[in-house]
Amino acid sequence: MPPDRGNKLANVTIIFGKSNLSEEIPFAYLCTVAGMKTYVDESLGEVTFRKVIRCRSISIRVRPDRHGGAKVSVTLPFFTSYARALDFFLSRREDVVLAAGRYSNPEVDDGYIEDLRRRAREYLPERTRSLAMRYGFTELNRVCVKHNLSNWGSCSRLHNVNLNLNLMRLPYPVADYVILHELCHLRHMNHGPEFHALLEDLCRDNMERIAREDPSALAFPLGKSRSRYPVSGMLSAFLKKEKLI
Ligand SMILES: [Zn+2]
Repeated sequence: MPPDRGNKLANVTIIFGKSNLSEEIPFAYLCTVAGMKTYVDESLGEVTFRKVIRCRSISIRVRPDRHGGAKVSVTLPFFTSYARALDFFLSRREDVVLAAGRYSNPEVDDGYIEDLRRRAREYLPERTRSLAMRYGFTELNRVCVKHNLSNWGSCSRLHNVNLNLNLMRLPYPVADYVILHELCHLRHMNHGPEFHALLEDLCRDNMERIAREDPSALAFPLGKSRSRYPVSGMLSAFLKKEKLI
């Protein structure tokens, strides 16, 4: 069964990453309230900034609120300054406003979907071709961007890969996981042990590369997996919690 369109009850983590920007942000708009600070944004309203002892990176969350709108909150590591977190938030503000827009309408906003589609068409085919080239999937034929509520991606017997524009809502290492999953189907049209072993090898290599080249991209909550295929298992567990819209 396809997921419920625009599941309004799910908490959605929209932005992931670490700030490496300057700390030169004025505090004029921040006011302190018992252990947290509130920033008043002209379109988002109150954005709360809260320090969390065990948190390792700054993250921005957008959740539906009780009044049919969105509530934005930012958590930051205890030893990170509020200035740095505000700086990070402001650098991602446009994405946050877009994400929050989804909750202010009963239906998922068409403009938001069109924006995802545009970004997906720019990014996904190129990313897929580059991963295919790196891992020797010369058999890859066409890469298409789709919008459906039934899968994140698919692979046809004609070696065409279809990718859901919803991948643009995920941290890119998780989108890579979906792309690699579909590429592995070019060799194994099933979910058997050989498919999983290949996918695990590619996911491990890809995550190691990302850890070396762009470590901040891994600053999103990935749990541990007890699966026989720990890296792909961990990414797949993350994906299962996400909803298609
Ligand atoms: Zn599959």
